[in-house]
Amino acid sequence: MRDFSQDHRWLSLNTATIRKQRGVEVPLDRIVDQCAERGIRAISPWRDQVAAVGLERIAGQLKAHDMRLSGYCRGGFFPAPDAAGLKAALDDNRRAIDEAKTLDAPCLVLVVGALPGALDGRALYKDIGRARGEVRDGIAASLDYAREVGMPLAIEPLHPMQAADRACVNTLEHALDLCDELDPSRSGALGVALDIYHVWWDPKLEAQIARAGKERLLAYHVCDWRTPTRDLLSDRAMMGDGVVELRKIRGWVEAAGFEGYSEVEIFSTLDWWQRSGEETLDTCIERHRSVV
Ligand code: ZN
Repeated sequence: MRDFSQDHRWLSLNTATIRKQRGVEVPLDRIVDQCAERGIRAISPWRDQVAAVGLERIAGQLKAHDMRLSGYCRGGFFPAPDAAGLKAALDDNRRAIDEAKTLDAPCLVLVVGALPGALDGRALYKDIGRARGEVRDGIAASLDYAREVGMPLAIEPLHPMQAADRACVNTLEHALDLCDELDPSRSGALGVALDIYHVWWDPKLEAQIARAGKERLLAYHVCDWRTPTRDLLSDRAMMGDGVVELRKIRGWVEAAGFEGYSEVEIFSTLDWWQRSGEETLDTCIERHRSVV
């Protein structure tokens, strides 16, 4: 297992972590500079943050800082109530793949979607089996293009509390079943983004990480699980402040062959998004070294 205690070479920052600083939205170019000032070598930005500043501008800035991506957030949201909606989702995923390519991302992270409309409080249908079928078909269709341009797709299983509105793939096992079905040769074109916030509780986690192996483990996201959790989406804790055995899980991931970045991804309306970006980044670096 790699020793993270001496430096933060393997820390990546998911830029949602400091998208709000002291409660105020901060543009991505500023976030990139803040990371560069601290020697952070990689980030994982969100599409809306990139679009707000401009894709080419961010690509140039990353190049100037010699900063890499650990992933690009995000594609997915495949299910829709009708054919036009399904096609619009595929078109949007194609654009996301192109953007990821421009930014030289190692993978496009997929939050696959669930019951269409549920995110807005009004599900347009209730058949989660149908949603799972549309997810499967959507990934299969997107994979053709992703292979063509060489952009791996990383399915991120989400905690079952988000099965209705964000992702109906809720365990690592389910994500890997999809990978085996759609990419049986383990070509590297399809894998998973393993986010400990979503999977830490899973009794099959260790075995499924071993099953995933190096070819399927495309990204590794860390934070911590706060008790009590006050919000299902945006109350993630800083590493070390919750109940997740981070080092044990990283041991499993590395034993399976993963050698990539440990990407800090913290959505925190009540806590970290109220603090300064400097304090949050400095704490991320310290905890990366001491507890991740
Ligand atoms: Zn994640």
